[in-house]
Amino acid sequence: MFSQRNLWRKSLGSKPVLTQILRRTLFASTPSPSPSERPPVLPPFDHQPTPYNKMMADEILKKRKEFLGPSLFYYYQKPLNIVEGKMQYLYDESGKRYLDAFAGIVTVSCGHCHPDIVNAVVEQTKLLQHTTTIYLHHAIVEFAEALASKMPGNLKVVYFVNSGTEANELAMMMARLYTGNLNMIALRNAYHGGSAGTLGLTALHTWKYPIPQGEVHHVMNPNPYRGAFGSDASRYADEVKDHIAYATPGSVAGFIAETFQGVGGAAELAPGYLKLVYDIVHQAGGVCIADEVQSGFGRTGSHYWGFQTQGVIPDIVTMAKGIGNGLPLGAVVTTPEIAQVMSQRIQFNTFGGNPVCSAGGHAVLKVLDKENRQTHCADVGSHLVGRLKELQHKHEIIGDVRGRGLMLGVELVTDRKDKTPAKAETLILFEKLKDLGVLLGKGGLHGNVFRIKPPMCFNKEDADFLVDALDYAISTI
Ligand code: PMP
Repeated sequence: MFSQRNLWRKSLGSKPVLTQILRRTLFASTPSPSPSERPPVLPPFDHQPTPYNKMMADEILKKRKEFLGPSLFYYYQKPLNIVEGKMQYLYDESGKRYLDAFAGIVTVSCGHCHPDIVNAVVEQTKLLQHTTTIYLHHAIVEFAEALASKMPGNLKVVYFVNSGTEANELAMMMARLYTGNLNMIALRNAYHGGSAGTLGLTALHTWKYPIPQGEVHHVMNPNPYRGAFGSDASRYADEVKDHIAYATPGSVAGFIAETFQGVGGAAELAPGYLKLVYDIVHQAGGVCIADEVQSGFGRTGSHYWGFQTQGVIPDIVTMAKGIGNGLPLGAVVTTPEIAQVMSQRIQFNTFGGNPVCSAGGHAVLKVLDKENRQTHCADVGSHLVGRLKELQHKHEIIGDVRGRGLMLGVELVTDRKDKTPAKAETLILFEKLKDLGVLLGKGGLHGNVFRIKPPMCFNKEDADFLVDALDYAISTI
């Protein structure tokens, strides 16, 4: 068996101080848990990766540093060169297999290289790749119709774009044009994009370049674990009312929220919050936007859209990521009345709704239905949450286990009372889990939340392996 301590040292560049901090935080208040005897083994999977003979990690990294922007970041001390994917698994340059529990940042919804989606994209590419919407094409209307059929209420008009950022830019513009107001309300701890406009909506300082942030107000985050009012939605909603009364002209353009804050660390909003706030915002003349870039398409298990978990129907819904299983694709869906406001000028998007992405996106919807992925997410998700909660009883470092379906977060803290973010520990466990074959996401302002949002074909064996690996990693520190 390899030495865990050496592995640690390696991943931290030999920092014994950190080791001591970790020992203290992990084992101070609880007796040492008995570590598993052996590291868990990945569930079997019948796929032989293609031998890789292209550029290796060191050279890629060197060229990336030379030719790509310095703001790019990577995961792990020694970043992985991932060269192949199949369903919920990824392979690195050496052919080592990993369980992908982050899905290309919550994007690979159906599974890596899902054959139906590959086929739809290839067949369309062979016939016609691009012309734009100046000509007619069947793929865009078929996809729009299928997407509209998934929406509640009168959300029937679709605008296709290429990313989540673009979707939120367009939604914000629609809100302002439709209402004639400027002020937007967003939540602290939100992520809505990185463009000059959407950066104003995003509320995590780590992403915010110091540029003008627009007419945006960030209200308290109704986070049941960390929020000042716990799960009391009405107190957070009162604060929104106050904020509008004091800090805006009294009328607003709109309110935008993720129902499950993704980048913010898989934080679910206090139950009932959206219903109360949507009423307040409507009374102030604004429209309500649901950012479903991460939580849509059945991932939360109980519902197809995240906002449905709060019993509301938004005026505008934005989506991206999972909609395309990896294709650059986003969409804004709204009512005919709100959509109408865009017709006062020309609105055009060169790649929006191109035949290839439309064919691929339509295939995604069909696969999710055919394979009953929403029910599967509910089933596997509740099993996984149950096992993670058991682990929480065993390991003091796990402060919170939250989320629904396959949209989960595990928040690590050095002490449960003060909820001090376990930043260093998270980093070390993150490296150890990678070595064990589990790729997770990381989130939250302090980077102390493991984000578990795998391709939706992730199964119970994968869930057990993930939990066993986490248990082993924590136990063997
Ligand atoms: N909204 C949410 C909720 C997101 O998580 C993201 C991306 N992390 C975006 C918007 C922006 O999407 P994109 O990166 O495709 O521009």
